[in-house]
Amino acid sequence: SSSGNGSANFRRKPVIIIVVGMAGSGKTTLLHRLVCHTHLKNIRGYVVNLDPAVMTLPYAANIDVRDTVKYKEVMKQFNLGPNGGILTSLNLFATKFDEVISVIERRADQLDYVLVDTPGQIEIFTWSASGAIITEAFASTFPTVVTYVVDTPRSEDPTTFMSNMLYACSILYKTRLPLILTFNKVDVAAHQFALEWMEDFEVFQAAASSDRSYSSSLTQSLSLVLDEFYNNLKSVGVSAVSGAGIDAFFKAVEASAEEYMENY
Ligand code: GDP
Ligand code: MG
Repeated sequence: SSSGNGSANFRRKPVIIIVVGMAGSGKTTLLHRLVCHTHLKNIRGYVVNLDPAVMTLPYAANIDVRDTVKYKEVMKQFNLGPNGGILTSLNLFATKFDEVISVIERRADQLDYVLVDTPGQIEIFTWSASGAIITEAFASTFPTVVTYVVDTPRSEDPTTFMSNMLYACSILYKTRLPLILTFNKVDVAAHQFALEWMEDFEVFQAAASSDRSYSSSLTQSLSLVLDEFYNNLKSVGVSAVSGAGIDAFFKAVEASAEEYMENY
C-alpha cells in the first residue's frame, strides 16, 4: 500500500491516461478540457496524439503521430482506403514507440500526467497489434490507466448501453489495466440512469423489458454477467464542453493509479 508515502513519493513518474471510446464520444474534446484543467490547476501535463487522420486538434500536442507519419501518403503508397491508411500509419508509428517512451522518461520528473488521444474509430486502437504494443509500452514503464468515454445521451437506450458496456468490458480484459468509465456530455443528459443501471441489474432489466425482442432477452442475461464487471470499475460523469466533473475525473485517475501501483 502507498499509505504513508505521501503523494510526492507516489509522483515519481507521470501517470499515463489512455483515452478510448467510440467515434464521436468526445475523446478529443475531453483531452482539450483536461489540458485546460491542467493549465488552470498548475498540473504538469503532456499530450500525445495517436490519431493519424485528425484534421485539426483543439489542443497543442507535445507528441503527434502526424509529425512522423503522413496518413494520406501511407494510403497512396500502400494503395489503402482510409481505415487501412490509419491502421498502417499507427503500425508504422508503433515500431518507433520506444523513442516516444524515451522522450517521456527524460521528462518524467517534470510531468504529472501524460494524456493520450486515440483514433476516432475505436477498433483501430483496441483491436490492432499497434494498439496493444503502444499500451504495453506505456504500462511496462509508467503507471497507466485507461478511460473509456461513453456518449451518455446516446446510451439512454438499454440495448445501446449494453453494447457500450460490453465493449468497455472487452477493453478491461484485453488491457488488464485499471479502467475508468467516463460518461461524457452530461450537459445534454445526466448519467444518473447509468449509475442506477450499474448499481442494480434489476433496474436495468426493468428498463430493457419494454422491448420483447430476442436481443432484449439476451440483454437481460448479459446484465447479470456485467454485474461483476461493474464491481471492478470506477465511473464518473463529465462534460468535456462545460467542464463539469473534471475534478472527479482526476480523483478517479489518482485512485486508479494507486490501484496500478498495488497490482501491476
Ligand atoms: P472523438 O471522435 O471521440 O474524438 O469525439 P470529438 O471530441 O471529436 O467530439 C465529437 C462531437 O461531440 C463534437 O461535435 C463535440 O463538440 C461533441 N462533444 C464532445 N464532448 C461533448 C460534451 O461534453 N457535451 C456536448 N454537448 N458535446 C460534446
Ligand atoms: Mg478524436
